[in-house]
Amino acid sequence: MKQLPFVYHKKILVLGLAKSGTAAAEILHDLGAFVTVNDSKPFEQNDNAQYLLTKGLTVICGSHPEDLLDEGFSLVVKNPGIPYTNVVIKEAQKRGIPVWTEVELAYRISDAPMIGITGSNGKTTTTTLIFEMLAAGDKHPLIAGNIGTVASSVAKEASNENTIVTELSSFQLMGVEQLKPKISVLLNLYEAHLDYHADFQEYTDAKFNIAKKQDATDWFIFNGEQRIVKDYAEKSMASKVPFYVSNKTNDGISADDLYIYWNGEKLFERSIIALRGKHNLENVLAATASALLMDCSLESILHVLSTFQGVKHRTQFVREWKGRKFYNDSKATNALATKSALEGFSEPIILIAGGVDRGHSFDELVPYLHNVKALIHFGETADRLQEFGEQQGIPTVIQVNNLAEAMQEGVNVSVEGDVVLLSPACASWDQYESFELRGDEFIEKVLALQE
Ligand code: ADP
Repeated sequence: MKQLPFVYHKKILVLGLAKSGTAAAEILHDLGAFVTVNDSKPFEQNDNAQYLLTKGLTVICGSHPEDLLDEGFSLVVKNPGIPYTNVVIKEAQKRGIPVWTEVELAYRISDAPMIGITGSNGKTTTTTLIFEMLAAGDKHPLIAGNIGTVASSVAKEASNENTIVTELSSFQLMGVEQLKPKISVLLNLYEAHLDYHADFQEYTDAKFNIAKKQDATDWFIFNGEQRIVKDYAEKSMASKVPFYVSNKTNDGISADDLYIYWNGEKLFERSIIALRGKHNLENVLAATASALLMDCSLESILHVLSTFQGVKHRTQFVREWKGRKFYNDSKATNALATKSALEGFSEPIILIAGGVDRGHSFDELVPYLHNVKALIHFGETADRLQEFGEQQGIPTVIQVNNLAEAMQEGVNVSVEGDVVLLSPACASWDQYESFELRGDEFIEKVLALQE
C-alpha cells in the first residue's frame, strides 16, 4: 500500500459507513489521519460504528449535524449513495473541502494498475469477463466493486504484480480527482439513475470521469456506435479502442455475423461465444480488447468466451431439462433489462415476470414479444401484466401467486426446444428481500426438476 503524505495527521471526515465507508475510515486511520465517521444509523444498531469506535476513531451517529464541518476537515470521503444535495456535502463544497468517494482512495493507495469499467448496463458482466480472462492468462487479477470486495480493501492488499479490475458506478465516479486507470471501459450510456443525478448531463459527465486523467500511455475502450460516447471519446487523451457490435471496421474491435475482428483482422469465430444476446456482445468485445491490451493469449481469452455462461442472475444459463433451457435473469428489475434478455433468444420463450409495481410501462417489451409463447406472472404487477399480455396477443397468459407456482406452470406449458426465462422486469421487494434471493429460489427449483 502506498503512503499518502497528504492525509497524515490531517482531520478527515468519512460520511456514511456501510462496507466502503468502514473500509475507507480504517485505512485512513492506519495512514495516520485523524478520522471522524458520521452515519445516520443510530449507534446502538450500527455495528460498523461500534467497531470503528473500538479502533479509536471518532464516531458521530444518528444524524448528519450541520455544524459537523466546523472541526476543520481537510477531506471528506463520502459513501457513493449519499447525494450531493446532502447538507454536509453542500457545505463542504462551499468551503472548498475536497469530497472523494472511496474509489479515489483505492486508486491513490494502490501499487497495482487498475482496469475500470463503467456504463449504464453490463458493468458486472464485463468486469467478471475481464477478471476471468486475466486469470486464465496468469495475470494475477483482483476483482473489486459490486461483485467483489470494496475497492480500497483490495487496493490495500495489492502488489504491482496484480491488476485490479474494478466496476465503477456513476455515483463513485462523481467523487474522483486523480483516478487514472491503465484501461478504462465505457460500455454505453442510457438515461438511468436520473433520480440521483441532477440531469443526464451530470450523469454522463460523471461516467466520463473514468477517462479524464488518462494520457497516451493508457487505453480507453468505448462504444463506437453511440454518438454521445463517441463525442466524449474525442476529448480523451488516452489511446483509443472503439468497439462495434454491428459491423466490421478497420479500427478497434468489431463484429459481423460470423467473426470478431481486431483492427480489421479476423480474430476468432463468433460462434464460440457462449454468452447470449447482442448486448452481451458489447461486453464480450470490451473484455476481449482489455485482455488483448494486457497481453493475454488468444487461447486464454477463447477459453473464457467458450465456457462463461453469464454472471449469476444476469441471463444466467441454469440447466437444460428434457430439452428445455432454463435461464435466470432475476437482475432484470426493469423492462429495459428484460428487453435485452428477450432479444438474445430466437427459440420460443416462456417468460416468468412480475414483482413490485412502480407504475412503469412494459411497452419497451412490445417489439420483442414475437417468440414469447407464454407469460406467467406473479406479484404486485399481476393485473397490469395480465392486461398487457392479453393486449399484446401472447398466446398463453397465466397469473399465479408466487415463483413456485410460476415454475410449475412453466414446466406444464413448455415443450422440447423452449426457453424458460425468469426475467421479471420488476423489482423483487414485494415478495423477496433482494433480486438475488428471487434468483436463488428459481435456480433451486430448476435444479430440483427430476429427470
Ligand atoms: P450492471 O452491472 O451495469 O447493472 P450487469 O452486467 O449486471 O450490468 O447486467 C444487468 C442486466 O443488464 C443484464 O441482465 C442484461 O439484461 C442487461 N445488460 C447487460 N449488458 C448489457 C449491455 N451491454 N447493454 C444493454 N443491456 C445489458
